[in-house]
Parts: sequence; structure tokens; C-alpha cells
Amino acid sequence: MRIDILTLFPEMFTGPFDTSIIKRARDRGILNIHTFNIRDFSQNKHRTVDDTPYGGGAGMVMQAEPIFKALEHLRELQEDLGRVIMMCPQGMPFNQDLAKELAQEERLVLLCGHYEGIDERVREKLVTDEISIGDYVLTGGELPAMVVVDAVARMIPGVLGEMASAEADSFYNGLLDHPHYTKPRVYQGMEVPEVLLSGHHKKIDRWRRRQSLLRTLERRPELLKEVNLSAEDREVLGAVYNQLQEILGFKK
Ligand code: SAM
Repeated sequence: MRIDILTLFPEMFTGPFDTSIIKRARDRGILNIHTFNIRDFSQNKHRTVDDTPYGGGAGMVMQAEPIFKALEHLRELQEDLGRVIMMCPQGMPFNQDLAKELAQEERLVLLCGHYEGIDERVREKLVTDEISIGDYVLTGGELPAMVVVDAVARMIPGVLGEMASAEADSFYNGLLDHPHYTKPRVYQGMEVPEVLLSGHHKKIDRWRRRQSLLRTLERRPELLKEVNLSAEDREVLGAVYNQLQEILGFKK
């Protein structure tokens, strides 16, 4: 996959994209990430890319022209731009399903705003998608772009050692992940659950599924509505419901 990132601060991407799993994916040619400084496409001698807002008010607005020029340049490199995604707190909330969907694409262009945001005409003419990483406002689109790239990259076959590890992660199948343990067996008096030491894979799978269901029920119950629950899953959750009714005295 090719990912082109338009930003005023390309240096911000160096650490996160030159480390660990993303670096390995880049080295192996699975991920092709390029950053472009929007300032390089400014048409004036001071290389400015922002101006005061029409109508007045605080802050600066990123101008349309350098971004139009930058996208023209990207089109010259490779005609089909693919999806042009603007990082934007007003955009579609980013989640695992969207990460999976974007991982199917061959090329993505990510546009990072700054200051008060980007001239609306960029959105009207060039942007195909807008993505928000949460209901809060950051100073720029660089961190959101890193979040999107990281989550999308994990969904591309070959990026993680084993795809099975991603499939067991929270949200992949709609549930939260189960707890994890590693050596030593006892740490500060806290023991690893016996079943995980049993070597009995079926029992371990059932324990993990149960933990996932209970964690999801406890922390994010609304997620359960979207999950394909088996009869055994329903039994696990039903037992909790019955227990609760007994504790609260609803059931004699
Ligand atoms: N005035 C804009 C608004 O209220 O919608 C916010 C501008 S914000 C200070 C500057 C840039 O940061 C945005 O153009 C966007 O690229 C990025 N940004 C900030 N928060 C974000 C979020 N939650 N998700 C995605 N991008 C975000």
C-alpha cells in the first residue's frame, strides 16, 4: 500500500514511522509511506501557506492553493490518488471496521490540517473522506494521521507476524480482548490463572472467550449488540444476568 501524507510538519512522522512494526513493514516494501511538506507547494516567495479568516476572528486558515498544487503533484507521481482523507474532528469517527476497510485500498492520501483548519474549498473539491480520531480537538492532523496509518497497517496481511494476533485483539470481532499473562507464574503473590497452565487448548479458548465477554459486558456493554453471539456466549452472559438478579433480590 502507498500512503502519501500532506503536512506542514513532516519531521513529526520520523520517530513513529521509523520504529518497530511500521518500520519493518516499510523495509519489506509492504507499506510505502511518503510525507510531503505543503509549504513546498506555496506559490509565493515567503512560502506562506495560511492566511487570516474571511469574516474575521481568531487564528489562521490553511490556504487552498498549496494543497491543490500538492495533490496535482501526487497525481503526477501516480494518476489514481485513491481516497483523499482529511483529518478532521468533524469527520467520521475512526474505528476498527474503518481501519479494516482502508487496509483494502492500494493508495491513500492523508491531509493534515493545522491552525483553525483548512479552506473549505479543499473539502468541497478534493477530499473524499474525513476522519476524526475522537471528540476532542488537537493542534494538528499529524497525530491523527499517525493513528490511522498505524491501525490500518496492522490490518494489511504480512505486517504483523501472525494475523491471528490482530484477530484476537479488542474490537476485531466486536469484543474486548481477554487478559494476558507471561512468566513468572507468580508475581508479588499474584498467580496466573490455573487454566492457562493446563495446556488444554479447548479449555483455554473457552476461558479466553468468557473473559472477553465479561470484560465487554463490564466496560463496553453497548458493543455486545453488534456481536454474533453463540449459544455458549449467551449462556455465559445469561448466567451473569441471573446472578445479578439473585443478588439484587429480583429472583427468589
Ligand atoms: N477548527 C476546527 C474545528 O473545530 O473543527 C479544528 C481545527 S484543529 C485545531 C487543526 C487540525 O487538527 C484540523 O484541521 C485537523 O486536521 C486536526 N485535528 C484536530 N483534532 C482532530 C481530531 N479529533 N481528529 C482528526 N483530526 C483532528
